[in-house]
Amino acid sequence: MGKQYNSILGGILVSFLITLSASAKEQATDILSGYETTKIAGHTWFIPGPLEGPNPKNRGFMNNPAFVVTEKSVIVVDPGGTVEAGRALLKRIQKQTKNPVTHVFTTHIHGDHWLGNQAFVENNKEVKLYAHPKMIELAKGGEAQVWIDMMMDRTEGASKETVATIPTEALTDQQEIKIDNITIKAHLNEKAHTLTDAMYEIVEDKVLITGDNAFNNRAPRLDDGTYLGNIAVMDKALKLPIEIVVPGHGPTGGKEVLENFKEFLSLVYNTTKKHMDNDLEAHEIKPKVIEVMSKFKDWTNFQGAIGKLVSVASLEVEENDF
Ligand SMILES: [Zn+2]
Repeated sequence: MGKQYNSILGGILVSFLITLSASAKEQATDILSGYETTKIAGHTWFIPGPLEGPNPKNRGFMNNPAFVVTEKSVIVVDPGGTVEAGRALLKRIQKQTKNPVTHVFTTHIHGDHWLGNQAFVENNKEVKLYAHPKMIELAKGGEAQVWIDMMMDRTEGASKETVATIPTEALTDQQEIKIDNITIKAHLNEKAHTLTDAMYEIVEDKVLITGDNAFNNRAPRLDDGTYLGNIAVMDKALKLPIEIVVPGHGPTGGKEVLENFKEFLSLVYNTTKKHMDNDLEAHEIKPKVIEVMSKFKDWTNFQGAIGKLVSVASLEVEENDF
C-alpha cells in the first residue's frame, strides 16, 4: 500500500517537473529571446535581430523589427521572417502597451522582413498592411511563394506555419500617413536594394527605418538591386531631417550608418570599375577590392559575400558602360 502511494506521488512529481521544464523551455526558446526590446526615440522601439542568414537555430528571425507606440495604436515596421517571429514581436509590444497594432509597414520584397505580417492579421482583422506597389505586385506574382519555400528550406521546416500575408495598401512616394500623434512618411525608391524598397520616416521622432537600403556590421546582398541606385538612396536619406537610423540588419546609429554603407557600396563599385577599365577579370579584382575594404573586413559575412558582390558590381559596370 505504502509503495503504491509512493509511486503515485512519484508520478505526480514527475509530471509536475515535466510541465515545469516544458514551460521553461517555451520561455527559453521564444524566437526573440536574447534580443532586447530597445527604445531608440520618444515613441520608437526596435529589436536588434541576429546577423546571420535564416537557419534552424534562428528559425527565420534575422532582421530588425521596429514599432512605434502612438496615443491609441501601435505601428509595426518589418515584423520578421516567420509567423513565429511576428507572434513573439506582438508579445513584446504587449509588454510595453495595451494599444492595438493597427498598421504594419513592409520595407521590401525579401521575406525575412515581412512574412511575420501574418501574426498581426491573426491578432486584428482590421490591421492595414502597407508596401511599395511593386512589392505587392511581385509578391502576388510568385515572389511570396519563393520566400515561403526558401524559409522552409533554410530553417529545415521551422517556418512551416507561415503563410504569405501580402500587404494590400500600395504607397506613393512622399505619402504621409497620420496615426494619432505620429506621422509616417514613405520614401519610395526606384531600384536600390531591390525594385520594391520603401523607407519609413517617423517624422516626430526623427527616425528613418531604411530596410535593406542600409546595412550596418553585416555585408549586404545586392543580387536584386544596383550599386548606383543604392548609393543615390543613401545620398537622399542623408538629406532628410532625421537623427536616428534603423538599418535592415545590424545596430542602429546616427547618419554615420548611411555614410558608412555608402562608402561600402562605393568602394566595391568604384574599385571593380577601375580594374575592369584596366581589363582585369572578376576573380583578379576580388582581392583588390578586399584590400581597399579593410575598414569593413570584420562585418558579418564579409568574406562569404564579397565575391558575389564584386560579380554583381562587374555586371552593373558592364551595363552602364554599354
Ligand atoms: Zn533584403
